[in-house]
Amino acid sequence: MLNFGVGPVMMHQDVLAIGSEQIPYFRTPEFSYLVLENERLLKKLVGAPDSSRVIFLTSSGTGAMEAVVLNTLTSKDRVLVVNGGSFGMRFKKICDIYGIPSTELRLGFFERLTEEHLEPYTDKGFTSLLVNVHETSTGVLYNMRVIREFCKANRLFLVADAISSFLADPFDMKDYGVSVTILSSQKALALPPGMSYVIVDRNAQERISCNPVRSLYFNFKDYLRDGTRGQTPYTPAVSVMIQLNRRLKMIEAKGLPNVIGEVAALADDFRQRVADLPLTMPSQSPSNAMTTLMPISRDAYQIVRLLKDQHGIFVAPNGGELRHRVFRVGHLGAISTRDNVVLAEALRDTILKA
Ligand SMILES: *Cc1c(COP(=O)(O)O)cnc(C)c1O
Repeated sequence: MLNFGVGPVMMHQDVLAIGSEQIPYFRTPEFSYLVLENERLLKKLVGAPDSSRVIFLTSSGTGAMEAVVLNTLTSKDRVLVVNGGSFGMRFKKICDIYGIPSTELRLGFFERLTEEHLEPYTDKGFTSLLVNVHETSTGVLYNMRVIREFCKANRLFLVADAISSFLADPFDMKDYGVSVTILSSQKALALPPGMSYVIVDRNAQERISCNPVRSLYFNFKDYLRDGTRGQTPYTPAVSVMIQLNRRLKMIEAKGLPNVIGEVAALADDFRQRVADLPLTMPSQSPSNAMTTLMPISRDAYQIVRLLKDQHGIFVAPNGGELRHRVFRVGHLGAISTRDNVVLAEALRDTILKA
């Protein structure tokens, strides 16, 4: 089996081995130490200011997106949501559910974000901006420098869902002026799904402490309080927390620029191998994490199905309007150029038949 989905992705042997072990009791100094070490390493990898904290949530990424909106925004905010696909739309839906006033900046499928798109929203009383750094449904990586300048000029509280761009494309909270960064276990961290990590700067911590949240499990105040001693209020995904520690040390040993460089090289290699096939790559600003492919006069969903059934290879289909037009190939996790060769051959075979 080969999995070129965007998450969950293929896991490294060391990480897999931890998953086969018994799970220890976790209200111990040893486990607290490991959690605090995870916090320190995650902060470093996202370029968080020293005074930032990490909230360890046992939930998928969407749970973290929802919890961030619930804990850091209120009905007094006016939120601008960058919506270029289904993850942007998800932020908008969450704002609607919690009665947080929000406006969508709609982009076409595959369209990059420019200053011109943001210009009409300047000086319009917005207080916050929500963005998925990489809109994973279409494969568009947004220009965070353009967003930073807009947020700086308008003094906006910036929330960045970096779930699918982290470790694939450069990201730095301080440089980009981000107050909240959302990460999840199953993308480039290449861990089992089930955990999310929310990095909050001092400004975000201030918002959290003043916000009377109506939730028990998703109340960040409790996570911040217990987190000071390396604990979580409720049982975390203990094995994933231990696997995270292993993985962060692997990344630390290799060096972040090298980790990102490897993902970029895999993406380049794959794109070259399929360049002569009857496919286009419609994204105006592709992330290293993933390649969006649009087959010419072939059904995208059928290609996904044939790759799975005839070759045992998973790639990610699209939903909704794009279901038959595009599919996506991830470049995350424990895969190599050898695997790219296998996929490119299978793709060639499938497309010529499909
Ligand atoms: C994968 C992903 C998520 C999280 O989705 P879940 O299925 O809830 O884990 C959120 N945002 C982006 C941009 C993603 O790529």
